[in-house]
Amino acid sequence: MRTVIEPFKVKVVEPIRATTREQRRAALEAAGWNLFGLDSQDVLVDLLTDSGTGAMSSEQWAALMRGDEAYAGSASFHRFESVVRELTGFEHVIPTHQGRAAERILFGELARPGDVVPNNRHFDTTRANVEYQQAEARDLIRPEARDLTAELPFKGDMDVDALEATIAEVGRDRIPCVTITVTDNSGGGQPVSLANVRAVRQVCDHHRLPLFLDAARFAENAWFITRREDGQQDRDPREVARELFRLADGCWISLKKDGLGNIGGVLALDDPELAERCRAMLILTEGFPTYGGLAGRDLDALAQGLIEVTDPAYLGYRVRTAEYLAELAWDAGIPTVRPPGGHAVYLDARGLLPHIPPHAYPGQALACELYLTGGVRGVEIGTLMFGRTRADGTDEPAPYDLVRLALPRRTYTQSHVDYVGEVLAEVATRAEQLRGLEIVSQPAMLRHFTARLRPLADAGG
Ligand SMILES: *Cc1c(COP(=O)(O)O)cnc(C)c1O
Repeated sequence: MRTVIEPFKVKVVEPIRATTREQRRAALEAAGWNLFGLDSQDVLVDLLTDSGTGAMSSEQWAALMRGDEAYAGSASFHRFESVVRELTGFEHVIPTHQGRAAERILFGELARPGDVVPNNRHFDTTRANVEYQQAEARDLIRPEARDLTAELPFKGDMDVDALEATIAEVGRDRIPCVTITVTDNSGGGQPVSLANVRAVRQVCDHHRLPLFLDAARFAENAWFITRREDGQQDRDPREVARELFRLADGCWISLKKDGLGNIGGVLALDDPELAERCRAMLILTEGFPTYGGLAGRDLDALAQGLIEVTDPAYLGYRVRTAEYLAELAWDAGIPTVRPPGGHAVYLDARGLLPHIPPHAYPGQALACELYLTGGVRGVEIGTLMFGRTRADGTDEPAPYDLVRLALPRRTYTQSHVDYVGEVLAEVATRAEQLRGLEIVSQPAMLRHFTARLRPLADAGG
């Protein structure tokens, strides 16, 4: 088989700056050993997130110039609305500045104190927006998905029996809607099968419950369905995506992901009465319904992005890049979450660094060492991010200690990925010399963004 190449050529370049290990060490010290504190100019290959960090196409840049900045009735809105309608089938299209703004508006209208919102697995902003309404965000991921390395094609599937049990337990009146996240971001970008969404739809029909998709990575999910699901192999990913949306009553999408935009979100739904209420909230917190939280030019670029993202050549390259990076990690002897997801590779730091206990943050130790060694920035997803501090001041370990290397869309080439593989290999040979860290200061909430740390003199055991 030939190399899967980037299905584009480069028109504009943005220089990236190489630094020495000494410079990186000074930058990391100044940042309190927290990669969120670094200046991007001090990072060579930035794999912190795939959110809003991708490159736009020449057609998207052209679309920016078509942007109509009229306050009301902008032509850009009509172009955006018609693409979202064609893709999702939903009548009411409500633009927001990000996915979380759509979540806040939707759950602000739907969820009441004491309600339960089932999801295969809530993304963190979704959970926060459900809990902000004093409702419970309940994850019903299939149990096998809790095994990091179980090679399952659809590890993002919801446990349908658990959904039935939840409905029986709390009663349909306390469930404002059922939600499915495609792909399961928190589980490593794992896809949900069409069969699973159909099964959840049946349960929802039986109990007359609305179903909403958190569809940030709908195109990657559709691609996995055409690769892995029986009977779906010859289908066009856009057709599959449309079928997924049509199984639901509405969706919200962070357009910083599969919208191929640098900013943007959308809420789309069929229920006219709910749409009316959401639009009223939109005016209060985002803007007039024909621009929401966005400029006209953003709406135009996003409309074009939503057309491009289901191109099979793009999706084939995208998913292959994540798989290729995972193979480089395996060659280096670094265990990862398996199978690799669509948008990122998750390194198993606890597996690589068994001498560093969770309370000394093996994920953070690995992420810092990748930066010191090669200027590569990933993000810890483990005890620093999720661990709770116990009464005695020590940390309750998170279930895993991972480092996520997320791939910005259409931004880096294969040689950048090869370079990251070389950095991984170098760090892996020195794994037993890595040391743990301790927290110097931390805020009360969401500590991983702003905590300051320092390296321990030993592994921290
Ligand atoms: C990114 C993301 C969100 C939130 O969207 P923002 O645009 O970052 O506000 C919600 N759900 C999922 C699955 C996401 O990946």
